[in-house]
Amino acid sequence: MTLPAPTVLVFLDPAFENGRIADATQPQLMATDLGATRGDGVFESLLAVGGHARKVHAHLNRLQASARALDLVIPEQDAWRRAIETAIGEYRGAFPAPEPESDEVVVKLLVTRGVEGASAPTCWIQASPSPAGSRRQRETGIDVVLLDRGFDAEAGERAPWLLLGAKTLSYAVNMAALRYAHKQGADDAIFISSDGRVLEGPTSTVLLAHVETADDGSGSARTVKRLITPQLDSGILPGTSQGALFAKAKAAGWELGYGPLVTQDLYDADAVWLISSIRLIAPVNHVDGREIGTPAVRKQLTDELNELFAGIE
Ligand code: PLP
Repeated sequence: MTLPAPTVLVFLDPAFENGRIADATQPQLMATDLGATRGDGVFESLLAVGGHARKVHAHLNRLQASARALDLVIPEQDAWRRAIETAIGEYRGAFPAPEPESDEVVVKLLVTRGVEGASAPTCWIQASPSPAGSRRQRETGIDVVLLDRGFDAEAGERAPWLLLGAKTLSYAVNMAALRYAHKQGADDAIFISSDGRVLEGPTSTVLLAHVETADDGSGSARTVKRLITPQLDSGILPGTSQGALFAKAKAAGWELGYGPLVTQDLYDADAVWLISSIRLIAPVNHVDGREIGTPAVRKQLTDELNELFAGIE
């Protein structure tokens, strides 16, 4: 028998103010839960570093927005915050990190429409280890393939029932895209809309950078650094990492831009990244086999963004 990965479960339960701790080695969901039978629900994944959960406010806001898109009424944010603290405390108590640098816990917030016939959603927190490959990909970078998403960039606005901007539990397509990418020998994928727009990764936001040196008008050179992400209304999930990083980058003097982006923009960039709450900032080395920028520039810009990201609460 393989042992389950270290996991802590905390259910949101009105009878338990700080959440109800449940045994992760035992069944905890009803087989008729609509999350299991239909993938009908929403979730969030956030990272706790050194016991501190990052960007909780942004994740709770997005959970609320996703729930609203599915007409789900979920517990208020304070109940989630208390249960998150319980889960992180329990996890770090049960599975202490061997060294401070590896003290990272993945915290998932999960909501399903509940058991068939019941009127209340099922809500819980899952705390588990950070995936083994995350840190390596931040350091070495990744190769990605471009995959057709099959929708045009306006589908999200035109057809809200497709739930394109919500983080739903129906992630089977996203996982299939990742497996497809792995079979092509790549680490990850970037979705392209049927009308040729760059969208997002299956579990990440796309960012790219341009660096230009311009005359500042007085004869001396000025370096302009521009950080660009696809338009948020193109049927993609608004990334909490992208939002937080853009705020820091703006304060540090970067110019910011929001698409529309096409494939050629990726090839013309000085650097491209896939960014997300768990893996953080993964530099893209190759897109469909073509190198992006140069190793030295990719590294320098990635170091700069990592420094900005380290200051995010
Ligand atoms: N886009 C998709 C489809 C995702 O699943 C994720 C995260 O899982 C992101 C973007 C990045 O979001 P965040 O930065 O909030 O983790």
